[in-house]
Amino acid sequence: MRFFTDVTLCIGCKACEVACKQWNQLPADGYAFTGNSYDNTSRLSAASWRHVAFVEQMDREVPVASRWMMLSDVCKHCTNAGCFESCPTGAIVRNEFGDVYVQPDVCNGCGYCVPSCPFGVIAVQPDAGVAQKCTLRPPKGRPRTRLRESMSDRLDRLRAG
Ligand code: SF4
Ligand code: SF4
Repeated sequence: MRFFTDVTLCIGCKACEVACKQWNQLPADGYAFTGNSYDNTSRLSAASWRHVAFVEQMDREVPVASRWMMLSDVCKHCTNAGCFESCPTGAIVRNEFGDVYVQPDVCNGCGYCVPSCPFGVIAVQPDAGVAQKCTLRPPKGRPRTRLRESMSDRLDRLRAG
């Protein structure tokens, strides 16, 4: 399952960021002004799973030529996911929809997945000691099937390259 953001229509209101936090019961990341952008979310984190980045291209010579664009940043649920491949415990699995999902009860917080994501998405939540990112969580009340790859299947796959 995927979703597409048409950034030509996005106005950067960040309502989707707020909705994501509310839906997933994620805490605030603080309220610090970066001082170099109107975008105070700044980056994705263990508690910020969706980021509407502001791409601010200011032209001081010709102010009217300045451009203020929006960029949707979120987990891509990659087909070849670095986080999935690097996780030594099998905590990261694909669910029945093909989404890349971190099982919090299996993750040990080692952080191997963090540098393995080329997009800087996944991060370890220091308080909880587990890696967190977008789950593409289905509507509340709908059960989520966990497809856990067995360790022997995993070893076979790794050996096969
Ligand atoms: S965390 Fe990174 S590597 Fe893993 S599925 Fe998301 S974008 Fe891909
Ligand atoms: S932090 Fe958790 S999800 Fe990431 S590699 Fe370690 S065990 Fe796997």
